[in-house]
Amino acid sequence: MDLQALLDDLAAEAAPFAAQGKVADYIPALAAVDPARFGIALATVDGQLFGSGDWRAPFSIQSVSKAFSLALVLAGDGETLWKRVGREPSGNPFNSLVQLEYEKGIPRNPFINAGALILIDRLLSQTGDSLGTLRAFLRAESGNPAVDLDPEVAASEAAHGHRNAALAHFMASCGNLENPVERVLDHYVRQCALTMSCADLAKAGLFLANHGLRADGSRLLTRSEAKRINAIMLTCGTYDAAGDFAYRVGLPGKSGVGGGILAVLPERGVLCAWSPALDLHGNSVAGVEALDRFTTRTGWSVF
Ligand code: GLN
Repeated sequence: MDLQALLDDLAAEAAPFAAQGKVADYIPALAAVDPARFGIALATVDGQLFGSGDWRAPFSIQSVSKAFSLALVLAGDGETLWKRVGREPSGNPFNSLVQLEYEKGIPRNPFINAGALILIDRLLSQTGDSLGTLRAFLRAESGNPAVDLDPEVAASEAAHGHRNAALAHFMASCGNLENPVERVLDHYVRQCALTMSCADLAKAGLFLANHGLRADGSRLLTRSEAKRINAIMLTCGTYDAAGDFAYRVGLPGKSGVGGGILAVLPERGVLCAWSPALDLHGNSVAGVEALDRFTTRTGWSVF
């Protein structure tokens, strides 16, 4: 199969889909990004890298970061993590407040915002520096020592982060935060503001296609833990559109409101698509379409 030609086709077909979405503007710094941009990269477990369109352009990874923080936290905590956060799809928007109150401050899953705040709380308790630990991991796995955050995006989210603050305060009131709310929120907005390209993210995610083995051959996760993270990505990684994403793409995936989506092809590689215009669930319209076309044309899905 000519994978380069396939990615080039997907990039050429993206424009009408990007035009259907809307760039996230509830974080004002994200609203400035050109909605017409599109990139796609594929990193394979045997070390090849393909890409097309804006695949080398850095963008705000936002919630794509949560797949990586889950891996780091699960590696340290093991099964005890599930006392603090659930692992069921939420069927609600990623920043919903109402479910958290019904469920007494235990977030439905680690990828909705409340659950991601729990991951940061645990990584702070484990390491003392959640952002620094994650950034060092992403630099090592992507092979790009320049991976860093965009302070303007972090400041913009911090200034408009009332919902996430409400989620964190509510969990603190239920006794489900170990660290001060302000500290957890600070690491959260800076983590979401990390900027990486499709190439960086596809390479960084390879341990998920490789049964938990890192780029240097060391083991981050057991085979079974890597399986579990992929399962949670499949069922919860695109929020209240996870069913539709599974139907269309058929791969574990994690999206972010910067327009990035990471998708894992077990034992083959990792795809990352980026296009900033989003659907109503906060997933990239052209990104999901490109992943759908990729798995349809290659037949490479988990189903
Ligand atoms: N930083 C964003 C938020 O908290 C992340 C959401 C997302 O990417 N889905 O709203």
